[in-house]
Amino acid sequence: MANALFGTDRQSVGAVSDHGKGRHTTTRRELMLLPGGGVLIDTPGMREFHLWDAEVSEGFPDIEALGVDCRFRDCHHHQEPDCAVQAAARAGTLDPARLAAFHKLQDEQDQAARTRREKGSR
Ligand SMILES: [Zn+2]
Repeated sequence: MANALFGTDRQSVGAVSDHGKGRHTTTRRELMLLPGGGVLIDTPGMREFHLWDAEVSEGFPDIEALGVDCRFRDCHHHQEPDCAVQAAARAGTLDPARLAAFHKLQDEQDQAARTRREKGSR
């Protein structure tokens, strides 16, 4: 299911745990499946923003490659001006469904990170 979401095999993931087991401290990466189909990747000692940035990009190397031409370095490829990813989707060089999957994952990780912050965890 995670592989389907990312569109690639993810062999770097060390462990997959279910939702209830994610609270302990670990020294390895963890990938948690969230209700509703999201994934949360937890790497101890790293900031959440950095995490999602690295992990979302890792799963979408094509979008990442296109994104270097965006006007903004932190472009989310939604409604930003001069977005190379949106341009590619419009031009048909990028599958719009793939961009939609990217946005879905991005939103879910964003939301998961926000929930964790609200709970005051770590
Ligand atoms: Zn963009």
